[in-house]
Amino acid sequence: MNVLRFPNGRAMIAMSILALLIFFADTVTVLDIAVATLYVLVVLLSARFGSTRTVMLVGAGCIALAVISWGLTRPAGPILEGIVNEVISNLTIALVTVLTIRSLRTEQRHRYQASLLELTRDAFFTWDMSGKVLYWNRGAEALYGFDRAAAIGKVVHTLLNTQFVVPLEQIVDRLHQHDSWEGQFARRRADGAPRIVTCRLTLQRDAAGRASMVLETNNDITERVRLEDALEQARSDLVRMNRVLVLGELTASIAHKMKQPIAAMMTSATAALNWLDHDPPAMRKAAQAIARIVDDGNHAVEVIARVRSLVKKAPTRAGRWDVNEAVDEVIALTRSDVARNGIQLRRELKQSSLSISGDRVQVQQVLINMIVNAIEAMHGVVDNHRILTVTTGVDGHGYAFMQVRDTGVGINEADLPHLFESFYTTKAEGMAMGLAICRSIAEAHGGRIDAEQNQPRGAVFRLTLPVERHESSGAAPAHMA
Ligand code: ADP
Repeated sequence: MNVLRFPNGRAMIAMSILALLIFFADTVTVLDIAVATLYVLVVLLSARFGSTRTVMLVGAGCIALAVISWGLTRPAGPILEGIVNEVISNLTIALVTVLTIRSLRTEQRHRYQASLLELTRDAFFTWDMSGKVLYWNRGAEALYGFDRAAAIGKVVHTLLNTQFVVPLEQIVDRLHQHDSWEGQFARRRADGAPRIVTCRLTLQRDAAGRASMVLETNNDITERVRLEDALEQARSDLVRMNRVLVLGELTASIAHKMKQPIAAMMTSATAALNWLDHDPPAMRKAAQAIARIVDDGNHAVEVIARVRSLVKKAPTRAGRWDVNEAVDEVIALTRSDVARNGIQLRRELKQSSLSISGDRVQVQQVLINMIVNAIEAMHGVVDNHRILTVTTGVDGHGYAFMQVRDTGVGINEADLPHLFESFYTTKAEGMAMGLAICRSIAEAHGGRIDAEQNQPRGAVFRLTLPVERHESSGAAPAHMA
């Protein structure tokens, strides 16, 4: 609302005195010039109060004073000339009043727009073509910790220590070509804390079309990036767990392979005994056989020690946890792979919560393996037929199950009985450890894993685990002990 304001008493007094002086000069002097036009100075002064209503009232007041003064003096000259003079003076005052009100309104509009920029929490600032900051809003102060006085006039990229993902020259080139650029910057706050921001640059041009200024808006995504990194870390932890589990499985196969050196050592030992039994004992031959035993023995010990040291790092975690929550975490971890492969994900989880005991990470590892296999099985399928359905529930025997159904290539009848064997793969680069490990995890948890054909196409893998199992039966797989 426009009200008559007196923000500056002295200015008001000065303005009144000036008006009175002009009135006095206009009334008592008989000058040939139109003294009344000087009222425009009073009107211009009134703009200082920032109110259009004040300007309007002052303008009207000045016209009134001019008319009164004219009425009082009645110049001696020709009457028509006097009237013309008076009309011209009053029109001048009116015109200046209107122009002053207009410029005041424009200024108020600009101030309002600027105050909106202050209200927004987004960082907004402008810089000239040499990079020097011209404007810096409150959002920018909050984001970077530099107040306006500290920022204005500084080169923005030096002030904020900008790390460019693409070279600055490239950004500037693009700005000149398209008048805008969007991307990401890593910067530092005044206190040195790193900030990652998405940023939009818009080029402003002057009337001649020359680049004059860049408007920049920023959004702080530091926390989002941190969470994404944490997720990535969790993902690689799971992958590492997988490797450790693979090593665990390898221990079994290495133990199997150890049979051979042990057999060799026994043969050498028998040979040594025979050489010693000779008369006279064939000492050199016996010593050679014993040396072979030592070599084989050392080699075997080395292999066992190396594998054991790796496997020992695998933690076993036991405890009660909710199936749906664990499945949702796996879905979140694999979501980007699923999306990247144009697969439609269907999540059909049991309504109520389902509690399970055992190593949550290992069970999640099984699920990840099933989902990764399903994704790979759908590689060759037409896009809109790639459907991955993850289901949880309780089966007819009261066991909890987690199931992954795909519409991929499916499994050959002949392959079905061998899928869970170590080193069984139908892929050129398959490691073929996954399902064998999955089975050992399932069995260690008192459960099982099954595979069957999906109808009409694809495969179904189902991990079944006992609900509310007790710890004493040993939740960890045998090879982790
Ligand atoms: P890898 O994936 O490295 O071959 P796995 O042990 O995980 O090792 O799988 C063994 C084999 O089981 C695979 O080579 C593949 O033939 C088969 N298989 C697993 N999952 C699926 C599936 N969803 N669809 C079709 N075949 C599958």
